[in-house]
Amino acid sequence: MRIVGGKIEFSVKRIPRPFPESVCAVCVWPFIWYEEDRYDDPCLQVHERYHWNDQLRWLVIPWFIAYGILRPFQGGGAGHWLEREAYARQDACRAAAGE
Ligand SMILES: [Zn+2]
Repeated sequence: MRIVGGKIEFSVKRIPRPFPESVCAVCVWPFIWYEEDRYDDPCLQVHERYHWNDQLRWLVIPWFIAYGILRPFQGGGAGHWLEREAYARQDACRAAAGE
């Protein structure tokens, strides 16, 4: 466990259900969970920490309501309105790292 700027982050073996198996990290303010092999992935941290800030900006619960409403239409990936900026920042991080 580590605390970074108020973000309480955990390493877990697997992200549990109901999250899909493809999910390797989850932010539910004020916590972020990472699968253990991704815990120190700096670009995944950029992604999840963006969600942490975004959830706080939305006062948390409305963010999850909006996420759930849009998910059937936009999926849970980079096409989701609340994921676009997180993926853009993650991709920029990977590009800067030469990945
Ligand atoms: Zn995300």
